[in-house]
Amino acid sequence: MDRKLHDGFGRGINYLRISVTDKCNFRCVYCMPEEGVPARGHDELLTAEEIARFVRIVAREGITRVRLTGGEPLVSHRIVPLIEEIRSIPGIEDISLTTNGALLPRMAADLRAAGLDRVNISLDTLDPVRFSQITRIGRVEQALAGIDAALAHGLDPVKVNTVVVRRMGQDVLELARLSIERPVHVRFIEYMPIGRGEARRAAGGSAPDPHCGAPAAAGPLDPELWGAGDVVPSDELRQTISRRARDAGLGALEPVRGAGPLGAGPARYWAFPGAAGTVGFISAMSNHFCESCNRLRLTADGTIRPCLFSDAEYRVREALRSGDDEAVRAIYREAVARKPRRHDDIDGTRRFMSQIGG
Ligand code: SAM
Ligand code: SF4
Repeated sequence: MDRKLHDGFGRGINYLRISVTDKCNFRCVYCMPEEGVPARGHDELLTAEEIARFVRIVAREGITRVRLTGGEPLVSHRIVPLIEEIRSIPGIEDISLTTNGALLPRMAADLRAAGLDRVNISLDTLDPVRFSQITRIGRVEQALAGIDAALAHGLDPVKVNTVVVRRMGQDVLELARLSIERPVHVRFIEYMPIGRGEARRAAGGSAPDPHCGAPAAAGPLDPELWGAGDVVPSDELRQTISRRARDAGLGALEPVRGAGPLGAGPARYWAFPGAAGTVGFISAMSNHFCESCNRLRLTADGTIRPCLFSDAEYRVREALRSGDDEAVRAIYREAVARKPRRHDDIDGTRRFMSQIGG
């Protein structure tokens, strides 16, 4: 029986993204300040039991798919038991996780055994120096080992997420080529200028410099200097990859007919001839997919966020703590009912991406 709630614009809501922590073992330049996000008291964050309780309640309201994210969900010690608990909730059909991959070699087996279905691994470049500059802490071998561990332990599908920023000058063909030998789905995501406004000012940084489309010279890895011209539209990127592929003697990308990999969502999929995997494009900026948005977010500090880009939030932590399921349900229903029709101006988002759950 389909029990999903519909918002004020007729969209059925069945997908919940949960930020289990806003901490991370990396510090990607576009996601987190170098010093990390301000530490918060334990009592400000939801416990694993509270998260599971929330999922149990909203599963009865038609949520069938859950994605665990962060921050980095694998730095949370409670991630494996949390997955086990969510797996046992009637109505939850699909559990996925977004990670930077660094801890997957040591955790993939336990995650799979706990009931995790599939995984998205973030990887913005294969260049070791550039990777360390972008993540400030990470090494590219960690992410690659994470991809191989996910494949080896039967997480399926395995998707690789690449955020593309014009000024970062990424090796996009090399990344796309990962899909030729391995059955992975490499997805290129348009950079979204989130957390550049109020969040950055609150963290003590300066306001964003509006250098829209400035030449790719100084500060290629300084998001303060990125502007609208740094969003590479998916169509342009696909043509660039196809052209470079032809120049390198590979066939051009061809559209994938039929459904893409499980959880295809707003991505459009292409593939190299004879490849084991696919190449996807997510046009978060150039082609809004708000009309078909089916998701809601739960932040680590216990607020429901109906839209990634809108700062409207509905606090549910106290209701969860008081054990009043009816109150939780009422807050959830209100958040669904008030989900905005579309996003417009996103520059003033109060939280960094790592605090929302990307
Ligand atoms: N730590 C995990 C990871 O990196 O996959 C999960 C959390 S991270 C916030 C989730 C995804 O959001 C990553 O793929 C990351 O690259 C992406 N992301 C972060 N900031 C972004 C931004 N401003 N625009 C587009 N994607 C962004
Ligand atoms: Fe951490 Fe993921 Fe944000 Fe990078 S993108 S800082 S890995 S939360």
